[in-house]
Amino acid sequence: MEKTRIKDLAFAELEKLIVSLGEKKFRARQIYQWLYVHNVRTFGEMKNLSKSMREKLHEFCELNLLTHENTKISPDGATKKFLLRLHDGYHIESVLMHSQHGRTLCVSTQVGCPVNCRFCATGLMGLHRNLTAGEIIEQVLLVENLAGENVTNIVVMGMGEPFLNYDNLMQALDILTDDDGKNMARRHIVVSTSGILPQIERFITENRRYRLAISLNAPTDRQRQQIMPLNRKWPLQKLLAAARKYTESNRNRITFEYVLLRGINDSVDDAQKLRTLLQGIDCKLNLIPFNTIYSIYQRPEKEAIMAFYSVFEGVRFPVTIRWSKGADIDAACGQLVTREGGKPVVQ
Ligand code: SAH
Ligand code: SF4
Repeated sequence: MEKTRIKDLAFAELEKLIVSLGEKKFRARQIYQWLYVHNVRTFGEMKNLSKSMREKLHEFCELNLLTHENTKISPDGATKKFLLRLHDGYHIESVLMHSQHGRTLCVSTQVGCPVNCRFCATGLMGLHRNLTAGEIIEQVLLVENLAGENVTNIVVMGMGEPFLNYDNLMQALDILTDDDGKNMARRHIVVSTSGILPQIERFITENRRYRLAISLNAPTDRQRQQIMPLNRKWPLQKLLAAARKYTESNRNRITFEYVLLRGINDSVDDAQKLRTLLQGIDCKLNLIPFNTIYSIYQRPEKEAIMAFYSVFEGVRFPVTIRWSKGADIDAACGQLVTREGGKPVVQ
């Protein structure tokens, strides 16, 4: 019989499981705290449970969902990339970044990604499968154990399209921010989407208190379509209307990401169009110079990046250039990929 993967359960399901094992319901709360507050990696450490209960849990439940395979550390020590193995042999990557804001973990939501943005290494893998809620949470828990420090911020910007794995992601974030669980601040979590419109609308309607980022990447539908095929289905004007709605109803500023690709979307004219497009939206713009992967695209010259940036002088919203960290260990935006298309990696 397959063991129950305990971190995949929402709290109510955990309660049901504990009762089905012949134990009192309140034990679920204790276990939940061992999992998410104390972050233990064996049932034996759950000291306030009886020995027989710990043995039962060990017999029927799986506690750890990810295995650490290796860590790459950037030369300045500020960025660490963790290669993690799933129970079925697939691999994902999570990246820990130190900055003045704290310790930010970039988590993955899928093995690969089906959205197929032309410039992204993960996109080139295709989709292998969604991660479960437990596998999303476990990235935070395992990295905290490995790094010996707590994660203060999460960016859901690793491998995969978060809004194509909506339910599992929300279950994971709800546990990570639960007062009785890990108790992370909702405003310290950013979910980045390539623009899956129905799920953005659902996110707004459900009034999720996480921050939202949209990867815009081009100022016109023609250009966006060329690099992001999903734009045919959900074009810019609809996306921007949803962005406005998010800022109004959730009272949160939205972030737009814009990958700068040489000769594709990096001209001063493109910048002017983008500036017009974003006028009046309560937003923040992150310009990300393309991080090289094996592909036809290139990063613009520094002068072109600065010329693009200078078009935004005087605008009322913040604009930053993201000189990505971790490019030298292939840990920067869009560089996450596991060899052999996500099948087992032999190190
Ligand atoms: N799937 C989500 C989140 C993961 S990608 C999304 O697309 O938003 C995170 C960010 O990295 C996106 O803004 C994406 O446009 C950007 N990106 C992808 N490949 C990149 C590359 N090679 N260089 C720089 N940024 C890249
Ligand atoms: Fe998927 Fe995001 Fe990469 Fe596009 S940029 S392929 S949505 S991970």
